[in-house]
Amino acid sequence: MYSGLVIDSRGTFLPEQCVDDSYGNYITIRYTDLGGNTIDIKYAHLNKVDVHNGDIISVGQYIGKSGNTGNAGGIGIVPHLHVEIRENGTRVDPAPYFATNFSDEGSVIVPCDNSLN
Ligand SMILES: [Zn+2]
Repeated sequence: MYSGLVIDSRGTFLPEQCVDDSYGNYITIRYTDLGGNTIDIKYAHLNKVDVHNGDIISVGQYIGKSGNTGNAGGIGIVPHLHVEIRENGTRVDPAPYFATNFSDEGSVIVPCDNSLN
């Protein structure tokens, strides 16, 4: 089972607080994949952060609450869980990391090919 290390986090913004930092509250978790790559996953716009830098996180563990801090509450931006994934420091498409694929409208279209994970 994978585990990860909380390498960065911020939980200082109030829910619905629009700020000029687009991420708002966030958590970044780092782990090493089976190929030896460093994977950083950032969850942003959170309303609550319930981990601390240096915490070890296991699969399925509660880490915080989704929300709309940062620019996710701004005009024209729909509140969302912002997920960013970096492989060895380079930002990549997060879709292959999810267990389900989504259409552009957000509805489920294709079960994920787990052989990619
Ligand atoms: Zn976002």
